[in-house]
Amino acid sequence: ILIPLLGLVLAFWFYSARENFKPEMLQGKRVIVTGASTGIGEQIAYHLARMGSHILITARTEAKLQKVVRRCLELGAASARYVSGTMEDMAFAQHVVSEAQASLGGLDMLILNHVGASYFGFFDGDVEHVRKLLEINFLSYVAMTTAALPMLKESEGSIVVVSSMAGKVGFPFTVPYSATKFALDGFFSSLRQEFSIQNINVSITLCILGFIDTDRAVRAAAEVLREVPAPRDECALEILKGAALRRRELYYRYSSTRLPLLLRDCAAELLDYLVRSRYRLPAAPGT
Ligand code: NDP
Repeated sequence: ILIPLLGLVLAFWFYSARENFKPEMLQGKRVIVTGASTGIGEQIAYHLARMGSHILITARTEAKLQKVVRRCLELGAASARYVSGTMEDMAFAQHVVSEAQASLGGLDMLILNHVGASYFGFFDGDVEHVRKLLEINFLSYVAMTTAALPMLKESEGSIVVVSSMAGKVGFPFTVPYSATKFALDGFFSSLRQEFSIQNINVSITLCILGFIDTDRAVRAAAEVLREVPAPRDECALEILKGAALRRRELYYRYSSTRLPLLLRDCAAELLDYLVRSRYRLPAAPGT
């Protein structure tokens, strides 16, 4: 009985000793947010603005980016600007980082959040689509990280990678998307190990999100998923807290992400079953 008790005391001590988040932590910080014209990225930009950060946002749709920049300035951003273009193009991904160098004189945080359009349904065998999605959702993250690393080493800054439960456990109906999210875990978790070996003080926070109420996700999955999506503004704030506290992984919401994942090593088939039971599945042929 003494050993579990000691474990509980140690866990309590560990959690109470952890630093708490304060909005001032992000005041004056120079931050890139990708995919910030809508959804979670847009909300991240607004939270950063309220905290007084310097913000550089990017996505393809210039008119939406202009609106987000205007709102960020109203909310109190130290500065706000945008670069528009597509993350299918690795030169563009690198160009966004150069813009941060030119306009902000450095970088404290790189928030990689954009996601390319995909379908919701059984894998259709379109290999070209998988390749394109890997370029947008994975390779451009790698290209931006590589380009930003000298500035992040200088500032002892942070990389934030927005991923999904679909990047930790097999999900049906989003095969190409899931593949890109698993790739992010492999790349960034390995890179974190190398940073540790090389004493590089750049944190990497991998964000594992459940179902969030963005227009895209609700349009794609609300009718099929038996669960209520979580609010995007709260999700965005939790991402920033995890990033500022330099956590290795952030789970939002905990009950629908971290807890089920505890089953992965001891009862993988049960976890697969629980994942499938989240969906209103089409009737199998012949039934
Ligand atoms: P949205 O679809 O709302 O936003 C996606 C953003 O990416 C937009 O700003 C979009 O702008 C941009 N984007 C899309 N294609 C490209 C492209 N080719 N080049 C550059 N930018 C592009 O997504 P969410 O807010 O829902 O998702 C944000 C992140 O959270 C993603 O990484 C997603 O995987 C993750 N996530 C979301 C969940 C959810 O339920 N919402 C669940 C789990 C993870 P534009 O079209 O103007 O280019």
